[in-house]
Amino acid sequence: MHDDDKDSMMNEMDGRSGRGDRRMGGRRPAFRKKVCRFCTQDTLPNYKNPDLLRRYITERGKILPARITGCCAKHQRAVTTEIKRARVLAYLPFEKK
Ligand SMILES: [Zn+2]
Repeated sequence: MHDDDKDSMMNEMDGRSGRGDRRMGGRRPAFRKKVCRFCTQDTLPNYKNPDLLRRYITERGKILPARITGCCAKHQRAVTTEIKRARVLAYLPFEKK
């Protein structure tokens, strides 16, 4: 479980450091304008709503970075926390290798 947490943290740090940005270049293929749905709907992510949280993980169970989910930093952090809670309660899968 600790390993999984550490892995997720490393993924977030990778996103922040911009690794992979060079490969993406300035173009974003199939980029869709997205806004943080938690801001627009004035709601918060909750571990009791795994159907909603499932949109923020890959099919393998990895948490998607904010640049893909379109969440603002504040709510992306909340989503991450709630997903980790939901995992502990077996609402969501841990990362599958
Ligand atoms: Zn937000």
